[in-house]
Amino acid sequence: MTLRLPTDGGVAQGHPERSRGVTLVDLHLHTTASDGRATPAELVARAAAAGVTVIAATDHDTTAGVAEVRAHAERRGMLAIPGIEITAIENGRDLHMLGYFFDPANPALAEFLAAQRATRVARIAAIAGRLASLGMPIDVEPILADAARHTAQSIGRPKVARAMIEAGYVADTRQAFEMWLARGCPAFVERAGAVPEDVIAIVHSAGGLASLAHPVRSDIDSRIAKLRDAGLDAIEVYHPDHDAIAVARYERVARDLGMLVSGGSDFHGDPAHGMEPGGSTLPAREWERLYAERHRYAAG
Ligand code: AMP
Ligand code: MN
Ligand code: MN
Ligand code: MN
Repeated sequence: MTLRLPTDGGVAQGHPERSRGVTLVDLHLHTTASDGRATPAELVARAAAAGVTVIAATDHDTTAGVAEVRAHAERRGMLAIPGIEITAIENGRDLHMLGYFFDPANPALAEFLAAQRATRVARIAAIAGRLASLGMPIDVEPILADAARHTAQSIGRPKVARAMIEAGYVADTRQAFEMWLARGCPAFVERAGAVPEDVIAIVHSAGGLASLAHPVRSDIDSRIAKLRDAGLDAIEVYHPDHDAIAVARYERVARDLGMLVSGGSDFHGDPAHGMEPGGSTLPAREWERLYAERHRYAAG
């Protein structure tokens, strides 16, 4: 796979910032391939409108949107790199891990992700059963039928949240999570899955770099060094959930541990969480360090 940085450093054609040579980098974005509400075309259009010049769609456990995002980005003179957000399990808790610059066609990665998505479908069915027993039946059949038809796409709890909104049980996605779907809530269902060390290894074997997503959400600080020893390449320092103090803290952790840095908006097209594309970005100097390491695990 060849990745080419546009000669202008990735700055969008025609954008007013172009003359000033601004590179605006957003490496955490979701599409309809997972729980985002924007199609790849809509995502690229919104990123372009915000002046973003380098993007990575990072859908949960699928690369189904990567090629389409790349095609739309190229048409606008933007650079789109392969991206993903994989859910790992550590100590019984979800740990989100980002991957970049990997080969989306890598067979071992594809097989791993297909298994992750199958686990997601089973879990959604279990959550629907739990909700029914709590007196809140949802219309889960269309969700499961959709998942069976589009196996390259991934489903997750936000789909359940939307069904709960439609049924009138909750007002929005946030309320669905806080009252029913999050860990510790009545309709929470445990998930099975890969440990972070295995996720790092599979991303590397596909030629990619692995970054720890939004660490502030994961209560993981004391174990970042251990993950670095297992090969973790980067930390997502720039994220909507990180205030200035968290950014400074994780910048220091990354520097002390000799790690790279990633960042982005976690755009989902849902006002309940994440930001608009470009709402949280990776500084150009950190992007240049990350980009320079894109072949760290490249085959051959
Ligand atoms: P799942 O993929 O099934 O584990 O669901 C996790 C997804 O739900 C995350 O990627 C978010 O997009 C979304 N999510 C998690 N917590 C919340 C929340 N409190 N409010 C809204 N969306 C959330
Ligand atoms: Mn999500
Ligand atoms: Mn996440
Ligand atoms: Mn995300």
